[in-house]
Amino acid sequence: MRRLTGDAESLMQPSNRSVDLVRELYQQGTSYVFAKRPEAIAEEFGFTEVARLASNENPFGPSPQALQEAQKALVSMHRYPDTTYTALISALQEYHGDYSFVTGVGMDGVIETCIRVLINPGDQVTISTPTFSFYGLAATAQGGVISNVLRNADFSIDIPSFISSARNAKISFLCTPNNPSGTVTPLSDIEEILQNIQGILFLDNAYVEFSSEDYRQLMNRYKNLIIGRTMSKVFGLAGCRVGYAFVPDWFKPMYEKAATPFTLNTISASAAVGALQDHEYIEQTISYVKKWRDAFTHEKVKPVFTSGANFVMIDVAPLTGDQATDFFAQNGVLVRSCRSFPGLADHYIRVCVGEEWENIRFLEVFRKI
Ligand SMILES: *Cc1c(COP(=O)(O)O)cnc(C)c1O
Repeated sequence: MRRLTGDAESLMQPSNRSVDLVRELYQQGTSYVFAKRPEAIAEEFGFTEVARLASNENPFGPSPQALQEAQKALVSMHRYPDTTYTALISALQEYHGDYSFVTGVGMDGVIETCIRVLINPGDQVTISTPTFSFYGLAATAQGGVISNVLRNADFSIDIPSFISSARNAKISFLCTPNNPSGTVTPLSDIEEILQNIQGILFLDNAYVEFSSEDYRQLMNRYKNLIIGRTMSKVFGLAGCRVGYAFVPDWFKPMYEKAATPFTLNTISASAAVGALQDHEYIEQTISYVKKWRDAFTHEKVKPVFTSGANFVMIDVAPLTGDQATDFFAQNGVLVRSCRSFPGLADHYIRVCVGEEWENIRFLEVFRKI
């Protein structure tokens, strides 16, 4: 590839291929894989409504209190947001207790900023795989070098291997309940890891509300733990893009220096305050999801993995994940093929709990697979 000379004039020559300006990573590298759009499937196979079970969203619609707070905030959208997001931080402290919090544009935004705080080009980042792909994408973007540590065959963490890799990493990522397998890592395993590494452990708890594990107490005992959370799943605000994390006190001012100014918008931050206060909506979602998750898990058509999240992973062998996903799509159900998850074999799908009719349609099609 031609090298740029830094001579401004040569950059202006029409013969230059502008795309050469782009980092090779983005000319060639991989990107985040999104679920197929339901509209596309509906059109292709003639359904008026498609069961949307591919993106782990909350099927109840937004919480009424979240809607109300967002509407109230609309009248001040000509003003920049409160830089410290005081109302949101207070709502988080009311919900969780007196911890230090940082916020971001989804947990994805929080992950990206944490990596920006810590990683210089060449620094190691350890990731427990197969898992959510964004840790690797964000770390690579910052010049980090990824060390993937494979989970055991049952998707539990290989603790000695994880520790030995994480010892050389500035930050390590572990997702529990894990996306896509649903696996919950016991608190004692997390504690063993924390006791044996110097770097930061980023514990992704996007789905923790649907499990019976609670890792928050660890924040009081370890200065190298960050717990990432999101408003996109149980709180029903995926479209608002609000994430946050429990951080050690020392980390918060560093995070704030590295963060893009005004990341969260006023409307989303206000919706999040309403959602955190709507305990009825949260409890209703959790008990509904657990009921249907049990129903999915007991359907023994194919092996369904025990999950602590609002989805289950299913082994569809001898079909591939893509073949099974096509079969479901032809029958009006959108599920997620797990092919794009690094480190996972190609015969898995992920299905989340949706509305009643969606779950029923899923089970009917599942029995025909
Ligand atoms: C959904 C999800 C997130 C974050 O989602 P945001 O919408 O960016 O808050 C983070 N980690 C995992 C494992 C997820 O599934």
